[in-house]
Amino acid sequence: MAFKFLQKFYAMFSNDIGIDLGTANTLVYVEGKGIVVREPSVVALNQKTGQVVAVGSQAKDMLGKTPGHIIAIRPIVDGVISDFEVTEEMMSYLINRAEGDNKKMLGPRVVVGVPSGITNVERRAVRDATVNAGAREVHIVEEPMAAAIGIGVPINDPVGNMIVDIGGGTTDIAIISLGGIVHSRNIKIAGDKLNNDITQFLKNELKILIGEKTAEDIKINIGSVLDTDSGGEMAVRGRDLITGLPREVVITESDVRDAIAGSINTLIESIKEVIEITPPEVVSDIMHRGLHLAGGGALIRGMKELLESVLKIPVHVAEDPLTAVVRGTGIILNDIDAYQDALIKNEDELPFTRN
Ligand code: ADP
Ligand code: MG
Repeated sequence: MAFKFLQKFYAMFSNDIGIDLGTANTLVYVEGKGIVVREPSVVALNQKTGQVVAVGSQAKDMLGKTPGHIIAIRPIVDGVISDFEVTEEMMSYLINRAEGDNKKMLGPRVVVGVPSGITNVERRAVRDATVNAGAREVHIVEEPMAAAIGIGVPINDPVGNMIVDIGGGTTDIAIISLGGIVHSRNIKIAGDKLNNDITQFLKNELKILIGEKTAEDIKINIGSVLDTDSGGEMAVRGRDLITGLPREVVITESDVRDAIAGSINTLIESIKEVIEITPPEVVSDIMHRGLHLAGGGALIRGMKELLESVLKIPVHVAEDPLTAVVRGTGIILNDIDAYQDALIKNEDELPFTRN
């Protein structure tokens, strides 16, 4: 009772913020305002001074184009915090931007989504980074759990639900029941790997070298996992591997499908493996309720149909799959007490960690 009152009292002087710390994109939700920041998880650093030069899309535009002393870093590689200090800088920049003119006296209360299977050390790193970025209180939730909540899956019911979140660096495959994660797997087959596959295909088959951004454009424009009969194709510019000179080639939808087929198969095998180790009662729930797809990778054409035909279960693509996780953090903020089981426990720390 007294604690509830105290929370309300604190709320007058502080913001509630939800963060999806993705490998590809970081999104920030502010209570009462909605999603206010949506930026690539990229930071450009001046190596001479150690200063942050740009964050987000500005920094992403610099990827592969920076002069010698400026480097563009993706601090969360493969779902792992590869660079603690840069992550902290990025978070503090984005939290500041999210608060804008509405900055309150106390630091915000923050719910952060992290990849499933993150180690204790990494979790601690995220917590510290969030506190150092100005948070008064930090709650950590695994991303597939946040995605499920964002999608509106009734996670606290005694029924099994399956979430597959195909992000940039990693895909999270999780089975959720009674407010907790029953099983989860985090694999490195996701959007970046598909971009890589496309780059390799062009290199091996068409002898042309393209940049990361071009590969991603190809995937988004004409990528598919099933023949859609669209006859899609795209002109692509790159460097000829033999002459070293610029050259343009045309890549078709079916080329792209071939390029990514191996990775898509591995992804499907991993989903099957998770289903195989799930208790039969829960599998029966999933057969009935279906699998929920989230993350940018859910947008690849034909994914729903392919998964349905191979796995023999209904597949639902989340509405706006790129924002499912951050919307989930927003819902959690609204009633943190109701989602205690969904949050990662933190026995070794007190709730108020600002030091
Ligand atoms: P993360 O949570 O790891 O930051 P996101 O859920 O933001 O990842 O998804 C980013 C990935 O989704 C990127 O690899 C991007 O290329 C891919 N993506 C975004 N839109 C599409 C689309 N329309 N078709 C295919 N892939 C997409
Ligand atoms: Mg994500």
